Amino acid sequence: MRRTTISIRPGSKRNAKNWSSPLSVEVPKKPFLAGSLREELAAWCVKECMAKFRANQIAEWLYKHGVIDPAEMKNLPLPLRGMLDSRFYAPGSRVTETAGTPGGTEKLLLELFDGETIEMVLIPGREERLTFCLSTQVGCPVQCLFCASGRGGLVRNLSAGEMVEEFLLGSRRAGRRPDNIVFMGIGEGLLNFDELQKTLHILSAPEYFGMSPRRITVSTSGYVPGMLKFAELGKEYTLAISLHAPDDETRAKIIPGKVRYPISEIMAAADRYLEKAGRMVTLEYTLLDGINDSPAAAQKMARLAREHHAKINLIPYNATDSKFRRPSPKAIAEFEKMISDAGAHVTVRTERGSENAAACGQLRARHGKHRAEKN
Ligand code: SF4
Repeated sequence: MRRTTISIRPGSKRNAKNWSSPLSVEVPKKPFLAGSLREELAAWCVKECMAKFRANQIAEWLYKHGVIDPAEMKNLPLPLRGMLDSRFYAPGSRVTETAGTPGGTEKLLLELFDGETIEMVLIPGREERLTFCLSTQVGCPVQCLFCASGRGGLVRNLSAGEMVEEFLLGSRRAGRRPDNIVFMGIGEGLLNFDELQKTLHILSAPEYFGMSPRRITVSTSGYVPGMLKFAELGKEYTLAISLHAPDDETRAKIIPGKVRYPISEIMAAADRYLEKAGRMVTLEYTLLDGINDSPAAAQKMARLAREHHAKINLIPYNATDSKFRRPSPKAIAEFEKMISDAGAHVTVRTERGSENAAACGQLRARHGKHRAEKN
């Protein structure tokens, strides 16, 4: 049986009861059928003394028809369907709760094979475009102070199979494939680099889902070692950096110290990405009333963006139960104008019914509360 390393948050019940190491333990875990590479499926067929063409049939079901459940793979013999069902997670995740409206912005709560939960969001856009926002970890070690997702810290990384399942379950819910993917859900994806890289390959390679890499955005809180590895891929995936402040002092009021790098190092890694991938980065900036919305901050951000050939995306804060507040519409418009007048490229993220869906991490937080109440 394949063994996979899973990181566990210190103090977790499981960790205290069953596992010896506080931060990283090995647990037996079946592979995921979704997210299996064609060569992995071929090797499995050979090991099980089956013809290799069966691997192609399974891959067609997964990557052409979007089918994860072997029971629906009608051209496979029944014994093979049974084997796939028992040897793999197929699927390992299921949608247990939704918020928002079908056809509008819709948030899905996914329960994973081990009972943990993550969120993904379906976001409709102009001209019937559809974007999926996917998670990369269960919980998040960055723990930005305005974000409900980071509150409990990191539980574990998601496997590539689980991220591909998010894509497939979202596609089934929407009745179609998305036009864009953003890895801006729960987690710092670049801390889960290998599994994220495999997922990106499956989403973009022509023999799998064949999406344009430019339509896939990876968001980072500025985890510099991961950004440098991402740059070295030399692929045209889009990179977004959640900067939220133009200087380290202001940033420290928003992102605690654990996974926070100096802005100078983050921007040097952004320059490396520009050089290797030939793409502009986007600096994501969550506007927080009285924290990072001053005229001086707008001027500094404009300078930073100009110097590093980056664009700025302003995100009016979607209030959770944190201490932060969203600036008024007038203050948001003025901040945007100051950046624009200073010669930098700036946009404001438009909201499409997100007020009807729970803010980031709240579905999961609510689910966790219910679980705790039941136990
Ligand atoms: S905003 Fe993103 S990086 Fe920050 S805690 Fe939330 S999920 Fe993590």
